[in-house]
Amino acid sequence: MIERTIFNEEHELFQQSVNKFFEKEIVPNHDQWEIDGHVSREVWLKAGELGLLCTGTAEEYGGSGVDFTYSTIMMEELARTGCSGPGFALHSDIVAPYIIHQGTEELKKQWLPKMAKGEVIGAIAMTEPGTGSDLQAVKMTAKKDGDDYIINGSKTFITNGYMCDLVIVVAKTGEGEISLILVEADREGFTKDKPLKKIGMKAQDTCQMYFDNVRVPQSNLLGQEGQGFIYLMMELPQERLLVAIIAIATAEEAVKRTLQYVQEREAFGRTIAKFQNTRFKLAEMATEVQMGRVFIDKCIELHIKQQLDVPTAAMAKYAMTDLQCKVVDECLQLHGGYGYMWEYWIARAYADARAQRIYAGTNEIMKEIISRAILE
Ligand SMILES: Cc1cc2nc3c(=O)[nH]c(=O)nc-3n(C[C@H](O)[C@H](O)[C@H](O)COP(=O)(O)OP(=O)(O)OC[C@H]3O[C@@H](n4cnc5c(N)ncnc54)[C@H](O)[C@@H]3O)c2cc1C
Repeated sequence: MIERTIFNEEHELFQQSVNKFFEKEIVPNHDQWEIDGHVSREVWLKAGELGLLCTGTAEEYGGSGVDFTYSTIMMEELARTGCSGPGFALHSDIVAPYIIHQGTEELKKQWLPKMAKGEVIGAIAMTEPGTGSDLQAVKMTAKKDGDDYIINGSKTFITNGYMCDLVIVVAKTGEGEISLILVEADREGFTKDKPLKKIGMKAQDTCQMYFDNVRVPQSNLLGQEGQGFIYLMMELPQERLLVAIIAIATAEEAVKRTLQYVQEREAFGRTIAKFQNTRFKLAEMATEVQMGRVFIDKCIELHIKQQLDVPTAAMAKYAMTDLQCKVVDECLQLHGGYGYMWEYWIARAYADARAQRIYAGTNEIMKEIISRAILE
């Protein structure tokens, strides 16, 4: 097996403490959170206290100012637990970067330290009931009124949506122009539904939200008015890489757990592992997962050097999430009936995996991006 080379000793120490935290604070509570439809506030605060949130945010804004390898570790460790409830990655590595890169000094000082402490939970609302893939078609409007914007419309499928204190909304500020605007959850006219009932990721508080004449100051605008689409294009490669990292880590863990299971479970007087079908399936999966791992570690290295381009990030997202779904399906099959039982890691992994091919841009949209890059 090819040894990974992206981690040094410091990374390994961080990995151990993250793993300890997840095993102690997340794994034992996750069943209850699945019933509740969301995680606890407390776990956000505890993660913040330990410096596990917003690791990539500069120290002057409350983060640790470390490179993307630390975010990678957070996601990989969470994927291995099979606990998809905490939306830490979206908060730290998707929402915070918009504020870091496009926020004014005032906005950075106001929000980033609280986000790093877990006191403020972040979300980003692009998708609407009427449009997801076609972002240019959003209907939400932000109209100027004196020094304010007045926001109207609704958003759906928003990760961290129910618990969020701060949400970046994608809204039309003119004909064919979209902008990114921060909205605090306590603004008058902003309401959220209960978390949506999903086939997986049951502890993740994905929700629908409504904006009825919500007034926010124009100083809540991120970057320049009308440039929202460009900012989204700048940040989406990181979001897609994050999804790919979770995908490959989940696939690796699925193979690891299945290797163990098939060597314990017996049928026809021998372990399942003795059947040629089992051996070949696992050999195929181990090979594909190894190829994926090498590709993703290379993408992580490129991303740290700011050299990961848009089509390569799209390739990573589509290929790894397709692989994840294939691997969890094959691994579930090797678990037989137990694989279909919710208490089994592989059952949840199977249900959780499906959304990965849909969000952060569907895999069909990824193929559009790739084909445009190679054909034109
Ligand atoms: C669990 C979960 C969490 C999410 N979290 C967030 C979040 O935090 N923030 C947020 O803004 N959104 C979020 N989303 C929404 C997600 O990003 C959208 O669902 C996704 O972008 C697809 O949009 P849609 O659902 O409107 O599907 P549609 O755009 O209606 O697509 C339907 C089908 O048509 C295909 N299609 C569309 N256009 C094309 C095309 N040009 N070529 C080929 N095929 C095409 C799609 O690939 C898909 O198969 C989340 C979704 C889920 C399921």
